[in-house]
This record gives sequence, C-alpha cells and structure tokens, in this order.
Amino acid sequence: KCAFAPSAMVSDACVSYGTINKLNDEVYTLLQTITTETDFFSYYRLNLFNKECPFWNDANSMCGNIACSVNTIESEEDIPAIWRSEELSKLEGPKANHPPRRVQETRPKERPLQGMLGEGVGESCVLEYDDECDDRDYCVPEDEGSAGKGDYVSLVDNPERFTGYSGEGAHQVWDSIYRENCFMKTMEEELQDQTLNMPLGGLQAVSDFRNVLQKESQRLDGLPLDNECLEKRVFHRLISGMHASISTHLCWDYLNQTTGQWQPNMQCYKERLHDHPERVSNMYFNYALVSRAVAKLRKHLQSYTFCTSDPVQDFDTKQRVNQLADVLARPPRIFDEEAMFQDPSAHGLKEDFRNRFRNVSRLMDCVGCDKCRLWGKLQVNGYGTALKVLFEYDETKNGENPPLRRTELVALINTLGRISHSLAAARSFHEAYEAGQEHA
Ligand code: FAD
Repeated sequence: KCAFAPSAMVSDACVSYGTINKLNDEVYTLLQTITTETDFFSYYRLNLFNKECPFWNDANSMCGNIACSVNTIESEEDIPAIWRSEELSKLEGPKANHPPRRVQETRPKERPLQGMLGEGVGESCVLEYDDECDDRDYCVPEDEGSAGKGDYVSLVDNPERFTGYSGEGAHQVWDSIYRENCFMKTMEEELQDQTLNMPLGGLQAVSDFRNVLQKESQRLDGLPLDNECLEKRVFHRLISGMHASISTHLCWDYLNQTTGQWQPNMQCYKERLHDHPERVSNMYFNYALVSRAVAKLRKHLQSYTFCTSDPVQDFDTKQRVNQLADVLARPPRIFDEEAMFQDPSAHGLKEDFRNRFRNVSRLMDCVGCDKCRLWGKLQVNGYGTALKVLFEYDETKNGENPPLRRTELVALINTLGRISHSLAAARSFHEAYEAGQEHA
C-alpha cells in the first residue's frame, strides 16, 4: 500500500511516488497523443510470425497451450466467437510487409508505398531501412534466425488489453523469464550450494533448508532476495514492473463476458496488483528508468529527422517529442544510471546483464498469442533500448554512440506510454478500491 503514499521513495530510484505521479500527470496526455496520433509512433516493425521459440520445441509449446486452453475454449462454446480468447488474440487492421533490401536501395525515400500501409500513411513515416546489429544492444535484432525483416503493425488497431491468453503456456513464459533469465538461483542450485558449504549437518542442515524454502517462496512471490546487488535487483524490478504493467492493462481493459462490455475489472486489479504492492512499486521504478532514458536522448531528438513525406505531421511529431524530452529532462534526475556497474567486483556483470536481457527478448517468441507477443516484444525492446541508452550512450559525445534505430525509438516511447497509462490506471483503481472499502 505504501506504493501509493506520495512521500515514500521508489526503491533503487532517487524519486518519490508523489513526484512521479506529478510528472506523469504532466506528460500523460502528450504521451498518449504521440503514441496514438502520429504515424511515426503508431506503426511498429517486428517479426511476429516467422520466428520459432528457441527455448522449447514448438510441439511442447503447442501441447502446453492446447492443454491450458481446452478448458477456456470449452467454457466459451456458448459465447460469440468474437469473445473467445483465440479471436481476441488475433491482430486487427492492415499489415504491411517490410520491403526487400533491393527495393529499399532503389526506391527514393519520398515515394509513397501505395496500398501497403493503409490510407494516408506515408512510406517514409513507417519504412525502416536495414541496419546492422550492434554488440551494445540489449535485445536480439528482429531478423535473428529468420529470413524476413518482419511486418509493420498498427499499434492503434491492436491495443494492449485482455485477450484470455493464460494457463500453462503463459506461465511457462513468465516462469522462464523469472527462473532462467534472472540472476537468482533456482532452489536446486541453492540446495547444492548449501550442501557443499554445510559444516555440521543435523540442525544446521534443517535451518539452512528452512532458509532455502523461505528464499524460494520469496522468489516465487516475485520478491527480490535480500542480499542481491543493485544490478540484480534492477533486473528483477524491470521484469516484474513490465509484468505488472501488462497485468494492469488487461485488468483495465477487461472483457466482461456476461455483458460483452470492455471495462475495468476491480477483482483482477485486487488480486494481481493491490495485494502485491511491490509489483506496483516496480512499475514506478520502470517509469523512472525509462523516462530518464528519454531525457538522456533530449539533444539527440532535437536533431532527429522523423520523416519527410508529410512535413506538417513531421514537424508536429518532432515538436511533441521534444516537448516530452524537455519536461522529462528537468532536474532533479529521477534515476541514477551511474550508480550501476561501478563496483570492480562486478566485472562482467554488465555483459551478463545484457545477455540475460537478450534471452528475455528471445523468450518473447514463445508467447502463444499474437497480440500479447506484439506488445511483449515491443515492451522488451523498449526496456532494452532504455538500458542501451542508459549504459552505452554518452550524451556528451558525438559519433561514438551506438546507433538508435527507428524501431528502438518507437518501442522506447510506446513503452513509456504504456507505463504512464499503467500508473494512471493503477491510481484510478486504487482510489475506487479505497472508496469501496470506506462504503463497505
Ligand atoms: P500470471 O500473470 O501469468 O503470473 C504468473 C505468476 O507470476 C504469478 O502466479 C505470480 O507468482 C508471478 N507474478 C505475477 N505478476 C508478477 C509481478 N508483477 N512481479 C513478479 N511476479 C509476478 N494476457 C492478456 O490478456 N493480454 C495481454 O496483452 C497479455 N500479454 C502478455 C505478454 C506476455 C509476454 C506474457 C508472457 C503473457 C501475456 N498475457 C497477456 C498473459 C498474462 O500475463 C497472464 O499470464 C494471464 O492473464 C494469466 O495470469 P495469472 O493470474 O495466471 O498470473
């Protein structure tokens, strides 16, 4: 509950909840208009269908999905097809293929790509030219391990909301993210370590085992372990905050299958967020981290060319993005990236951190629902871009910084838009919940 106390500080960030709420009130509408009203930020290129899950084979994944969705489908027999999870997971709207490299090289930038992007959408606003991947990236490039470069998808036509994707398939992905891709040890590894270090056996073993169980339950509950260093905690907070943000959106835009209305679901909020204040706190942490990354790009964005086919819209997009970066760059700094990866004993930690985050991005290909995969990929790319900007980018230098791709910028701003919306929704839920308690 302290996650909503205005003066309480967000752990591992140098800011209070109240300050973030005020900042969010200021940029909320601006962010929503940037992400929903500009062509540049509302089309995203990604490889949604051509990549296989690299961690378990498709047969297993399908098996898990079918097993977990049998009940759902059976119980949904009586409701219209459009309400079924399968339908809710499908993508909406026109989708444009990425043009092959040869076509990109020969076609002048200004020429519109008729018929592929939907009416009124200029090519240069959505077309991305091929570029090389960089060692300093925190996400795997979208074309890794596949032939194509992906498709353009409208984010506005496919809002992040309840899809009905759940059960074993979804749990397997979350579990893998927390279990395999965090720095935390698994129970088996802990036990192995404890056994190796066990001096006396007997009572000592019992107390050690109790510790292990306590840590394991803490870990399964999504709580970071006590003795973790800052970097490991940050990794955990990022993942948990992203998970909480996704949960907030599906609770906020939930399908009431009795009335057929899309509406907020208080019970969903209570179970997934209200009863776990540390998850809400991790969303605030993510807000601080991502908005600091956008602030760090302020100068870069002032000279960024958005596109050229619709000068009026381009000018407007740039004005809004610069305004956003100006507000976020105002002192005080709300996240101090310089405190991380400083300890000499943490040698190799940054690379480990980056590799683990890349694995999280690979895991997104194991998500068995198209819309969830779209938003999962976008947000992981957004957080990966924020990490790249925070840890690999020096705003005082020119020429030596890693390149920032269009997809990365689109993902970064949309991810901030998502967390911004989550914080507003969580506050609204919280207020309604408290009011309900008072009346009860
Ligand atoms: P889950 O949310 O699946 O959580 C599994 C376990 O993780 C919980 O039991 C708990 O122990 C732990 N946990 C939960 N939240 C946190 C947290 N914030 N921090 C730490 N630990 C936590 N469904 C939709 O309807 N729409 C979507 O757009 C959508 N996108 C998704 C994207 C991805 C990448 C994934 C993997 C799933 C997505 N889902 C989406 C499914 C959704 O996230 C849940 O998995 C599903 O609703 C089932 O929820 P659940 O209550 O069983 O717990």
